[in-house]
Amino acid sequence: MTTGKTKIFMDGHIIPWENATIHVASTGAKYGANVFEGICCYYGDQQYLFRLREHLERLHESVDLMRLPQRYSDADFEHAIWETLKANDIKGDAHIRLSIIVTGEGLYDVSGPLSLVCTAAPREPGTLSERTVSLGVSSWRRIDDASMPPRIKAGPNYHNGRFALMDAKRHGYDEALLLNSAGMVSESTNSCFMMIRCGALVTPPVSAGILDSITRDTFLKIAADELGMPVQVREIDRTETAIAEEAFLCNSFQEVRPVRSIDAIDLKEVAPGPVTMRLWDAYENVARGHVSKYREWLSPKTDDKPLIAAAR
Ligand code: PMP
Repeated sequence: MTTGKTKIFMDGHIIPWENATIHVASTGAKYGANVFEGICCYYGDQQYLFRLREHLERLHESVDLMRLPQRYSDADFEHAIWETLKANDIKGDAHIRLSIIVTGEGLYDVSGPLSLVCTAAPREPGTLSERTVSLGVSSWRRIDDASMPPRIKAGPNYHNGRFALMDAKRHGYDEALLLNSAGMVSESTNSCFMMIRCGALVTPPVSAGILDSITRDTFLKIAADELGMPVQVREIDRTETAIAEEAFLCNSFQEVRPVRSIDAIDLKEVAPGPVTMRLWDAYENVARGHVSKYREWLSPKTDDKPLIAAAR
């Protein structure tokens, strides 16, 4: 979360939080026309952006799929991120959000002008025991590729998550697990779902109506390569989730949230379970640059351009 003290990068300038606004008549404000990325920054022997290349590739894909012009280069995005970290004096772990917002006025098919916005919030260290969640299977179905493609990381997709999360909380759960229109497990409101079942790491395929998550991909690779675990990307039905040994939600924002129960049925292992803990340890080692094989996933700051002067 940003606060009133946060400095924000907007269209090439670092500006005070209260000045980072878009017009009420813009398509971004009226219809939620925006695409974005949430990116992890970790401190190892220095600050690294974790899997930046993959995040920027997904952002370019979201821009294309939303039929917006490709106005920004990877260098623009990287510059925005490091300027934002510097302006906020964040030298450790952080969560970064890069957004492209349609600021032009008109109907929902307007595709410009655009604004590039970057925010950064320091991430406090925390244990997995503090992050456990109860899940309720939602009566809301996950959006699908034929209507609101979940592959696009666009703000309006989160109305689906909003319905499900509010409903889950109203029923006393911490989070929701959404099924897709075929009744198979899809994902949570802002995270992918992973479970440990008969010793394997199991997660639904991208075609189940999920965002093609970078954290999910990281766990699939680490589980197979570092822990030698079987991994299965396959359909999961609702009742199978509740008889899993362990389960967790993953994303770049909250990283890992171990699941205690699903529909008020406790999972076999008390959360965080032993396999989740081993996966989390492996993830931390990789993300902080301790495993040379995965150093290519880490982007340190490369240039040292001076901070853009506060303006606007
Ligand atoms: N699903 C949804 C709906 C999300 O919003 C997110 C968070 N971006 C994820 C999954 C996880 O994606 P990632 O690991 O790339 O952050």
